[in-house]
Amino acid sequence: MSMPKVLLIYTGGTIGMVADARSGALQAVNLDHLEEQVPELLRMGVALETVTFGRPIDSSDMHPEHWVRIASIIGERYSEFDGFVVLHGSDTMAYTASALSFLLAGLSKPVILTGSQLPLGAIRTDGKENLLTAIEIAAARENGMPIVGEVAVYFEYSLYRGNRTVKVHAERFEAFRSPNWPVLAEAGTHIRYDRSALLPSRQGPLQVHGGMGNGVGVVSLFPGIRAEAVQAQLADRGLQAAVLQTFGSGNGPTDRDFLDVLRGACERGIVLVNVTQCVGGRVEQGRYQTSRALVEMGVVSGQDLTTEAAITKLMFLLGQGVAGGELAQRMAIPLCGEMASA
Ligand code: ASP
Repeated sequence: MSMPKVLLIYTGGTIGMVADARSGALQAVNLDHLEEQVPELLRMGVALETVTFGRPIDSSDMHPEHWVRIASIIGERYSEFDGFVVLHGSDTMAYTASALSFLLAGLSKPVILTGSQLPLGAIRTDGKENLLTAIEIAAARENGMPIVGEVAVYFEYSLYRGNRTVKVHAERFEAFRSPNWPVLAEAGTHIRYDRSALLPSRQGPLQVHGGMGNGVGVVSLFPGIRAEAVQAQLADRGLQAAVLQTFGSGNGPTDRDFLDVLRGACERGIVLVNVTQCVGGRVEQGRYQTSRALVEMGVVSGQDLTTEAAITKLMFLLGQGVAGGELAQRMAIPLCGEMASA
């Protein structure tokens, strides 16, 4: 049997960072001679090719154009490789994973994002295990078919659905969770996949979409938020849609000024999507009196979407030229496992 082929796309992030000689601040550098830093790569039985993605960056500098570029690299090399690993900073990894899940329609091969909390060069690095296991998952096949056929994040012994992932810790090696979806696989002495949690395998060609819209905002509620402040946010001329981060199961203040501002935005055709500020659980608009008005004015329930998935799904659909009422309808329909159906 021939060796599985994996393409490693290096975008930057802590995994490849070194400390600046003067300031000591970590900065992304080219990850040259990866095999010298991780000699185990040569013994994996995987044919690995690495592409460095432009100038390596800290993921705080990630931009939707980068997501489109990563998707197009995967699209261009799709037939050559069994799987793809994207090395990426952890800070915005959940956004990139969500965006890629939408941009890579009909994906049936693994696209595994990973990175680390400590650079590969650090003695206690978590990067080595993350890198090696992500490659193993990207190369894994059963009966000639890939086991994972979706965009996923691998971090600290767990594989998560990409568009369900959130970064939950700034320091711990266990930096990610997917509170509303089971872990796809756990890596111990064996890698144990949860078949019932993985997306069913898809047939048909990959369709790589290009272009993300940028008319998206986020309004995060807090007790005492001023209607004028929300008004200012929603008055942005370029705004086509906004994620409304609400309390609990989708609730918000009931004062008239605040509701009038939201209603005005809905009337101007701005699509508002309700997601909860809670780490887990779903929005149930209308369950409490404090969300009834949102239903009446046409705020879309984001169900159990993460904020990251809601923002990138809006950008994706806007990039497809979908706006207004059609955007509101399409936001309620799951695209690739990112949300429960209504
Ligand atoms: N600031 C880094 C980044 O997101 C953190 C990391 O890689 O974990 O690029």
